[in-house]
Amino acid sequence: MSRNFITPIGDEGIYTLDTGSWRTFRPIMNKDNCVECGICMSFCPVGSITGNKQKIYAIDYKFCKGCGICAYECPSKAIDMVKEGD
Ligand code: SF4
Ligand code: SF4
Repeated sequence: MSRNFITPIGDEGIYTLDTGSWRTFRPIMNKDNCVECGICMSFCPVGSITGNKQKIYAIDYKFCKGCGICAYECPSKAIDMVKEGD
């Protein structure tokens, strides 16, 4: 399923924002430390973290803007922010 994140701007209608292109840092999830609580998914402002019925969480980089909120909120410190391209 493809997802678009849209926002109304001015009086010219709706624009799609390519928030993934804003990213300078990339969140990397360390599955060994993850306790599958889902808090990161709740806080991600662009819905880039998804979970399934088995509570396996993953980051979709298509719209991830690299804000680092997920890493900040993770109680297990299971997400590291690394410089894009490293
Ligand atoms: S907040 Fe941290 S521990 Fe919880 S699901 Fe996300 S990465 Fe895993
Ligand atoms: S860095 Fe920001 S946009 Fe990317 S997954 Fe984490 S909370 Fe979402």
